[in-house]
Amino acid sequence: MTRRLQVSVDHSLCVSSHMCIGIAPGVFRAEDGGQAEVVDANAADADMVIEAGLGCPVSAIEVLDAESGEDLLD
Ligand code: SF4
Repeated sequence: MTRRLQVSVDHSLCVSSHMCIGIAPGVFRAEDGGQAEVVDANAADADMVIEAGLGCPVSAIEVLDAESGEDLLD
């Protein structure tokens, strides 16, 4: 069964590097101000979303298992 994710970006931390958008463009996009926002948390494989979260230079991304609430970036 495919794992469903809950993904968020902390805008108090995001520095608009767009690394997450490069890794998972269907999941993240740039807002007008340049910060990332989540379009569809489940538009890419969970592994890709986790990679994007781990690649964020300021740890602004949270990736949780939507059912269990487990933090998948720990
Ligand atoms: S990788 Fe992190 S800092 Fe860069 S745009 Fe995405 S959330 Fe923002």
